[in-house]
Amino acid sequence: MSIAPETAHRVALLMGAATEAILWGPARGWVQTRHAGSELKCRAGSGQATYHKFDPHSRRHTITYGRQMVAAKFEGITSQGWLSTREIQGRGYFEGEVSTCNLLAHTCCHEFAHLLQNVSGERHHGSVHNAAFYRILDEMHTSGGAVAVRAFLVEKSRQQGIELPRSLMTLDDVRDQLSRFAVGDTVQFGQAPRQREGRIIRVNRRTCTVQGTGRWRGARYRVPVSMMRHSR
Ligand SMILES: [Zn+2]
Repeated sequence: MSIAPETAHRVALLMGAATEAILWGPARGWVQTRHAGSELKCRAGSGQATYHKFDPHSRRHTITYGRQMVAAKFEGITSQGWLSTREIQGRGYFEGEVSTCNLLAHTCCHEFAHLLQNVSGERHHGSVHNAAFYRILDEMHTSGGAVAVRAFLVEKSRQQGIELPRSLMTLDDVRDQLSRFAVGDTVQFGQAPRQREGRIIRVNRRTCTVQGTGRWRGARYRVPVSMMRHSR
C-alpha cells in the first residue's frame, strides 16, 4: 500500500505528537534534573532521514521523522533489511510482529531511546546502537510505553481518516518480487534526481547486490527489491 506525500507528512507529525505526549511527558522531569531547561521539539522532515539531535547551547532536543521514511513503512516490501524490522523480530518487540503500525510506533521509541541515551551519557561515537541503548529500548517496550505510542498513533490517525495497516508483512512478498530479477540484469534504482543504474551481480535473500554502471561505475550497492526496476 502506498500513500500520498501529504498523508505521510501528517503521519510524521502524529509520530511527533505521540513522542511528545506519551514518551517525553513522563520523562521530562528526569531529563530536566540532568539538564535543567531541556525541551523536546519533534518535526516532520521532507526526506527519509529520521534522527535525534541535541543542541547543548539551547538544550533543545529535536527528533525529526522523515516523510519518506513514513511512506516506506506503508510499503511492506521495503521493510526487510531495516533496523526497525530487525529490532522488532530480533528482540521480540510487539511479539515480533512486523506491520506498518508496529514499525511506526517502534520508530518513535527508537528515536526517543536515543534521547534518553544521550541524556544518560551513554551515546558514544562509533557505538550508537550499543548495549546501553538496547537496555533503554527494551525498557520502553516492557514498560508499556511502546504499546501506548501505538494506541495513540492508531487513534489519532483514524480521526484524520488515515488507516495504519496492522496486517503482518511477510518475507514471501519479497521472494515474489526477487524472482523477477537475475544476475546480469540491468536495473535502475533510487528516485530522481538521485536515480542510479547498475547490473545485478548477486541476488540475496532480501536485496540485490548491484554493481554501478555508467556514471556510477566503481560503486556497489545493496538495493531492496522494491526500489529496483529493470532498465529499458
Ligand atoms: Zn538509531
